[in-house]
Amino acid sequence: MTAHAKDLAVDVRGLRKQYGDVTAVDGIDLGIRQGEVFGLLGPNGAGKTTTVEILQGNRSRDAGEVSVLGVDPETATRAWRSRVGIVWQDESAPAELTVRETVRHFSRYYRRPRDPEEVIGLVGLQEKAGSRIKALSGGQRRRLDVALGVIGGPELLLLDEPTTGFDPAARRQFWELIRKLADEGTTILLTTHYLEEAEALAHRLAVVAHGHVVAEGEPAALRDRHGSEATVEWTEPDGTPRSEHTKTPTRTVAELTHRFDGEIPGLRVSRPTLEDVYLRLTGQENAR
Ligand code: ATP
Repeated sequence: MTAHAKDLAVDVRGLRKQYGDVTAVDGIDLGIRQGEVFGLLGPNGAGKTTTVEILQGNRSRDAGEVSVLGVDPETATRAWRSRVGIVWQDESAPAELTVRETVRHFSRYYRRPRDPEEVIGLVGLQEKAGSRIKALSGGQRRRLDVALGVIGGPELLLLDEPTTGFDPAARRQFWELIRKLADEGTTILLTTHYLEEAEALAHRLAVVAHGHVVAEGEPAALRDRHGSEATVEWTEPDGTPRSEHTKTPTRTVAELTHRFDGEIPGLRVSRPTLEDVYLRLTGQENAR
């Protein structure tokens, strides 16, 4: 472990996991700082869920060092589990109970739970507090799952594809919830397929492909580092559209300004989006 390991909520070195002939995780390194929202991004089968399950202590590993809140999840105790919030995809809460009854019930598993009413408010389910679980929509259900993940007052919240299946409005509401939790100081790891989700929420992110990290950093820095070339487009006087990929777009525009002696017809300067960078990094450039 590094000299800074004690500042890291999650410290992973050389993680490997094999399922028979399939190498799901092929040497992942990750360092998640306390208090940050970290996005794990990658295409289907990249190894995200396997990694999160190992961090949760729900799956064994074949190699590597893993420290989550200073503890190896393979040797996890009940005390450690109460510090790590896990949001299950298919929480088996009894469908006949109300939201309030369920959150209260789960709070009893913890020594120092958060106030159930406050948590219900935090996830925006106050108006549904008296509704039975079976009457909740998919998005409301997911909010309840998060409520159950945070009722113990975890220091670290692990979320595997939390917004899959959400409509755009529900996704945005969910982002607000994640921001609120982050503002309270909770460290959050979330996996996602959605670029805009990672960009909206994550302080830093790692792009995973074929079981290893192919890029890591702040979203804007990743875009700059891996997609530094801009595209300058314009139209020649005879109507021919032209474009140039360049690291110095300002100079290109200055040259064109001089040549056209004023306004440049059809001028457009664009930089690669994080999505372009992501597709390139994960080898899916031709995906769109
Ligand atoms: P997705 O975005 O589709 O959820 P992921 O990045 O979470 O994918 P994993 O679920 O970790 O990826 O899967 C990584 C690889 O391991 C895939 O090839 C998958 O088929 C395989 N795999 C995952 N779980 C198992 C398992 N229990 N048994 C066998 N193979 C598995």
